[in-house]
Amino acid sequence: MMPLIEILTPKNLNEVLSILSNHDKVLKIIAGGTDVVTGLKQESNRFIDAEILIDINHIAEVKGIEQRNGKISIGAATTFTEIYKNQIASKELPILKKAVSTIGSLQIRNRATIAGNFVNNAPCADTVPALLIYNATIEIESINSKREISLQEFLQGPYKTQLKKDEIVTRINIPVPPKTFVGDFYKLGRRQAVAISRITLAVLMELKENNINEIRIASGAATPIGTRFPDLEKFAEGKVVNDNFLRSLASKIGDEIIKLTGLRWSSEYKLPVVQQMFYQMLNRMTKRIK
Ligand SMILES: Cc1cc2nc3c(=O)[nH]c(=O)nc-3n(C[C@H](O)[C@H](O)[C@H](O)COP(=O)(O)OP(=O)(O)OC[C@H]3O[C@@H](n4cnc5c(N)ncnc54)[C@H](O)[C@@H]3O)c2cc1C
Repeated sequence: MMPLIEILTPKNLNEVLSILSNHDKVLKIIAGGTDVVTGLKQESNRFIDAEILIDINHIAEVKGIEQRNGKISIGAATTFTEIYKNQIASKELPILKKAVSTIGSLQIRNRATIAGNFVNNAPCADTVPALLIYNATIEIESINSKREISLQEFLQGPYKTQLKKDEIVTRINIPVPPKTFVGDFYKLGRRQAVAISRITLAVLMELKENNINEIRIASGAATPIGTRFPDLEKFAEGKVVNDNFLRSLASKIGDEIIKLTGLRWSSEYKLPVVQQMFYQMLNRMTKRIK
């Protein structure tokens, strides 16, 4: 049964920060509630001690998408449907748009928010690989401080982040990707819809005269947390694109994943799937560029 919890509905960010600075009670932010409410019903350790929920749905400072000075800024409590329908996101961040389109059902996407997706740092959070390849940074505020760090830095370990008890994520900032970049996102779940990811991959790349000038590769679910592969990216950069090279690059992602997870009972079937997914993505992307 769901415990009885007080819900506060502050009107602006200052009110949220001042409530969060009160250390006498166990406070939790609630945005869309798709994780919090399910967690409370299931008596999850992550939520069960909450005494007060702070509803941030009506806080203008954490809503909306804007483009300014070469950056796109997404409010932490922007829903997936809002991102999917937004013109800036559609034009500049197609991989994020593709990632959010795969999340849950329409009802979930109408409620669930972008920061809510990565604040718990579940390995299967679908926006994380897309945000990582876009070099997303996040703004975090408390009553006395404001900081901006990369998403990769924020994500410390499975279900562990840098967020302190009195802090809120306010915005996600993404440098506008150059027009010469192409990318793709792929999600594999047990079924087509309303499925938790087993493997996600996001790739963004730029070719110059058939050489890989820059490539960014990130995974989720197959690795303990969403992560970039800096060694793999370095290996690929400067190389000439041909089928042999794409096959060797795809094969190497398996080694990179084993470095992070160790050999698991599932490696035998999961790794060939990741390698094949990655190869197909690279193939599609490089054909699109030529
Ligand atoms: C049926 C179902 C299907 C789902 N399918 C998918 C799926 O396919 N892919 C996927 O990735 N996820 C899926 N989810 C998980 C969920 O919808 C997402 O993780 C969602 O993005 C959480 O956002 P929310 O706004 O609902 O977060 P909430 O439940 O409101 O909050 C989640 C956590 O984030 C914290 N929080 C929220 N906003 C902030 C903030 N601004 N600053 C600091 N802390 C904050 C809360 O305190 C809480 O700890 C599914 C969930 C359900 C119930």
